[in-house]
Amino acid sequence: MSLTTFAPLLQPTQLRPYGLPTYHTVADAIADYDGDDQIYALFPRRIERTARIFLSGFPGQILYAVKANPHASLIKILWEEGVTQFDVASLREIELVQGIAPAAKLFLMHPIKSRKTIEVAYAKGVREFSFDHADELQKILVCTGEAADLSLHLRIALPKRDTAMPLGGKFGATFDEAVALLRSARPIAEKLGLCFHVGSQCLDVQSYDAAMAYARRVLDSAGVAIDSLDVGGGFPVAYPDMPIAPMSDYFDAIRSSLSLHGFDGLTILGEPGRALCAEGGATLVRVELRKNNNLYLNDGTYGSLFDAGQFAWKFPVELHRARPPAPTANTIGFRFFGPTCDSADVMKGPFHLPADTCEGDWIEVGHLGAYGQTLATQFNGFYSDHTVAILED
Ligand SMILES: *Cc1c(COP(=O)(O)O)cnc(C)c1O
Repeated sequence: MSLTTFAPLLQPTQLRPYGLPTYHTVADAIADYDGDDQIYALFPRRIERTARIFLSGFPGQILYAVKANPHASLIKILWEEGVTQFDVASLREIELVQGIAPAAKLFLMHPIKSRKTIEVAYAKGVREFSFDHADELQKILVCTGEAADLSLHLRIALPKRDTAMPLGGKFGATFDEAVALLRSARPIAEKLGLCFHVGSQCLDVQSYDAAMAYARRVLDSAGVAIDSLDVGGGFPVAYPDMPIAPMSDYFDAIRSSLSLHGFDGLTILGEPGRALCAEGGATLVRVELRKNNNLYLNDGTYGSLFDAGQFAWKFPVELHRARPPAPTANTIGFRFFGPTCDSADVMKGPFHLPADTCEGDWIEVGHLGAYGQTLATQFNGFYSDHTVAILED
């Protein structure tokens, strides 16, 4: 029996360094695939590089927001790179991370949890919980047997600002609620903190300052001392047509705002999801048919291209064609259609690809290491379990 079911392109001792079929290039992974589905690619070197940028640059501790990409290999790469704390939302995410990194410190940052989730999470060693309502605080207290070792993080809703994906409106205490909740939580919590989320893909560096200024006003009104401030996720990724400031601008702005608003000396936390892993992953899709400038693909809005469909985001694209003739140099804009029979399964782009793109070509859709594979459904029987690692060496 052979070790693997794919043709080994690396030396046997190096076969699965990431627990995945591993190749030197995307083209190698495509050449070795005879399945019919999209292929999910992880780029370990990019993930490691981004982890180091956050670990060395962010002015506090990093929690990886697992929902962005819960792939076990990615979590393992982050863990080995030194990301030891994780923002989880569910029992399954807790079990997933503990199965890979039993020593990881977990923060259950979903403001609304079932009683069972709280009970089991506490039994599994979780001590960090978020809440945004008095009833949730009560649930946490009851379901942990009135534990004396709780770190509680009050999620506050932020005043409205521009963001690509606002996360307000669903979670977070209002100003007055927050003042009351800080006072009632203080005697209960061993450690008490504030947390917020400026909205995913936050393009305005100043959003973090505005949030911290607001948090300061809440705290001053409450007259309650806290131990930690969690500035959440929201760090952006440079998708095409969405230029971003360098991550160091975000880190510098957060660092100076922490001082400006009197948060020096607190434990500072950040919860990057998207920015930590988006560039570390891609989906490789195949063209099944071309009609004019429309490409019908084997992945779409119900798969890993949800944001391309739902929000009309453009992702970087690159053509891979193994056989001659080589693709033409001039490019045109294409619209994508996914494989399901739903007419909503369309991604309008435009995605710029060689003008002679045709059936059988593969397209590498980049920056999909976050909110890609994890959003994919099995609608209409279209999905893929095939994930590979690309070394790019
Ligand atoms: C989704 C989420 C994150 C990660 O957000 P990104 O925008 O992907 O960085 C962090 N914290 C919480 C509470 C979240 O729900």
